[in-house]
Amino acid sequence: MSTSVRFDRGHTDDLMSFLAASPSPYHAVANAAARLEKAGFRQVVETDAWDGEAGGKYVLRGGALIAWYVPEGATPATPFRIVGAHTDSPNLRVKPIPDTGARGWRQIAVEIYGGTLLNTWLDRDLGLSGRVTLRDGSHRLVNVDRPLLRVPQLAVHLDRSVNADGLKLDKQRHMTPIWGLGEVQEGGLISFVEEEAGLNAGEVRGWDLMVHSVEPPAYLGRDQELVAGPRMDNLLSVHAGTAALAAASAQDGLSCIPVLAAFDHEENGSQSDTGADGPLLGTVLERSVFARGGSYEDRARAFAGTVCLSSDTGHAVHPNYTERHEPGHHPMPNGGPILKVNVNQRYATDGGGRAVFADACERAGVPWQTFVSNNSMPCGTTIGPITAARHGITTVDIGVAILSMHSARELCGAEDPHLLAAALTAFLEG
Ligand code: ZN
Repeated sequence: MSTSVRFDRGHTDDLMSFLAASPSPYHAVANAAARLEKAGFRQVVETDAWDGEAGGKYVLRGGALIAWYVPEGATPATPFRIVGAHTDSPNLRVKPIPDTGARGWRQIAVEIYGGTLLNTWLDRDLGLSGRVTLRDGSHRLVNVDRPLLRVPQLAVHLDRSVNADGLKLDKQRHMTPIWGLGEVQEGGLISFVEEEAGLNAGEVRGWDLMVHSVEPPAYLGRDQELVAGPRMDNLLSVHAGTAALAAASAQDGLSCIPVLAAFDHEENGSQSDTGADGPLLGTVLERSVFARGGSYEDRARAFAGTVCLSSDTGHAVHPNYTERHEPGHHPMPNGGPILKVNVNQRYATDGGGRAVFADACERAGVPWQTFVSNNSMPCGTTIGPITAARHGITTVDIGVAILSMHSARELCGAEDPHLLAAALTAFLEG
């Protein structure tokens, strides 16, 4: 990486606003949908009958979004090109009976969502976001984006060996945020949320609420060549995929149907109606084939010709822990998107997939790198192998190399987001 790297600051600025405005998966899909609407896409509802007309469409379900663009002249057997990503990030989520406390402190009971780096949530100013479900069954987004909560770390004077022995955090005892002083009030948090959302008392019937750092993303480094911010894993890919789908849909003469599949619940295994291990993607693609007059044979032909790039973050080489990485493979920030390989199918990439990715990067004029784990380290996984196994779709795992994965504040190269978007655009154009 050279410090003379010229990056598309417009794209990175837009990513930073997207991250800041998307504290929950529900906000992320609403913001992606708003960008797609600007590009001419229209929402279709799962309970309606679908038509097979050309154009851009999307389905929203909870924290998931599937969007696709049917070009003029597409046949029922036209294959799809899919960018896959996930909208969820590890964090702290509000328990069913949230109001708790001790010794005059008001606190909020939380569950730990996904593989959270617990220490990174300590001593941060935290807001509260997500969605509430009202009596009529409709949902309302909620975002209290100001300092409201804090998980205070124990002072060093009361934990003398913490630096030598390491910080040990018990998920139940040590991660309960404070949100003020006073008597614990049953129903206090939800009344507060109703007030914040401008709702009448008692209108909220259900909630999916979570905690986020209110510190906005920022450029970092001597030449501002890095970006620090929350939820890059994996809103960086959701944002790049949204931009790529909008760009691809503006091209004439597409020979495939470009798709963005942004799933929820990747961080805890993808098994839900909005996760990659559910039927959502397959159902949407099938309905698109059938709406264009296709048969089961056409569906099988379309799926057999389909390729998915599963885009997620990967590990850049950590300068303080170089021994944890594979010595011959060292992805760096601003080195371009990474191809992720694991022969045991923690990643779905094979040699054929490598060729597809290399071709897209070459056409986009984008450099790229490869990631493989050190054999002594366990390898993470993504929605890639799940998509491949569930739908029989050829899948390639790729992404962007970051530091501090699963921290409340991660770090990436300032240029990589737009390099990824350019590669995804070339891929979606077929
Ligand atoms: Zn991820």
